[in-house]
Amino acid sequence: MKRRDFIKKAAGGALLAAGATTAAPAIAASKRFNWKLVTTWPPNFPIFQEGVEKFAKDIETMSNRRLRISVFAGGELVPALQTFDAVSQGTVQMGHGAAYYWAGKVPAAQFFTAVPFGMNAQGMNAWLYKGGGLNLWREIYKPFNLVPFPMGNTGVQMGGWFRKKINSIADLKGLKMRIPGLGGKVMAKAGVNPVLLSGGEIYTALERGTIDATEWVGPFHDQRLGLYRAAKHYYYPGWHEPGPVLELTCNLQAWNELPKEYQIMIETAAAAANAWMLAEFEARNLESLQELKQKYKVEVLEFPPDVIRELKRLTDETLEEEAGKDQTFRQVYQAYKSFRETNDAWNDISEAAYAKALKL
Ligand code: CA
Repeated sequence: MKRRDFIKKAAGGALLAAGATTAAPAIAASKRFNWKLVTTWPPNFPIFQEGVEKFAKDIETMSNRRLRISVFAGGELVPALQTFDAVSQGTVQMGHGAAYYWAGKVPAAQFFTAVPFGMNAQGMNAWLYKGGGLNLWREIYKPFNLVPFPMGNTGVQMGGWFRKKINSIADLKGLKMRIPGLGGKVMAKAGVNPVLLSGGEIYTALERGTIDATEWVGPFHDQRLGLYRAAKHYYYPGWHEPGPVLELTCNLQAWNELPKEYQIMIETAAAAANAWMLAEFEARNLESLQELKQKYKVEVLEFPPDVIRELKRLTDETLEEEAGKDQTFRQVYQAYKSFRETNDAWNDISEAAYAKALKL
């Protein structure tokens, strides 16, 4: 029995080696693809755009220049917030951005970026890769002709820049704040007027007092935007975005036309970029934070516990309300919640316990 299996295997191996089983792999490998990838990021946007360009270059090298991906920043080929449509319609083959930008079309997409008081980068990776999250995401994007991949994570963001100190939840009332997504909905419940502004508009709005507060990313990116010149109180933690996932999308037909080896290259390079971007954020943020404090005299403050507690309560309320409005949102919310419960239980005796131990 064993011997027969061995002979069968050996024969198959020989056939494969001789390229006799099928001519398809040889043809596939020589086929060339010239793809376009559009992003939601400004040109030269560090880490985000940089990471996408590295991804494209890696694939070009791995495929021996047979799969070439030209990368365009937001507005260069299509407007930043039309990348979803452009990839969905096949105008271009790939896009990079964040799933919560498409909340207007797919409210449930927000779970694949960040949920206020939700899972951090480690939890999101576990849910997406190993907890069924990515399969769910792919199912939800399929009607839009898209295949999504996790590709980047900022880690826990900062809570934002405030012109005035926040001592209680009452201090939030009436503030105009740039804060997108579910975080904005939660803030609205606390009496904030959430405003949507693109990265390029934030500084001027804050400087002129059109808005009283803004969140952006973290010290590294916030410093580059010069936000410390317009507000001096820099709050943490970014309760609203505890580990936002960035997404790569691929047009479904384009994906299906690719030979398997190129599909694996994309999957692998996206996972590598996912780790690369998180490492960049982790490595660069603290240095910028020190400079903000020392050189620019920024006051770095923790949100008071009462404010956090109230925002947490309002988050649960918001999520329940949104789940009542949309069936897919409700379905993903359930899946997210149930994974999160086990993740939290493990986190309690691993990461959280370790963080506590370090402080003793
Ligand atoms: Ca943000």
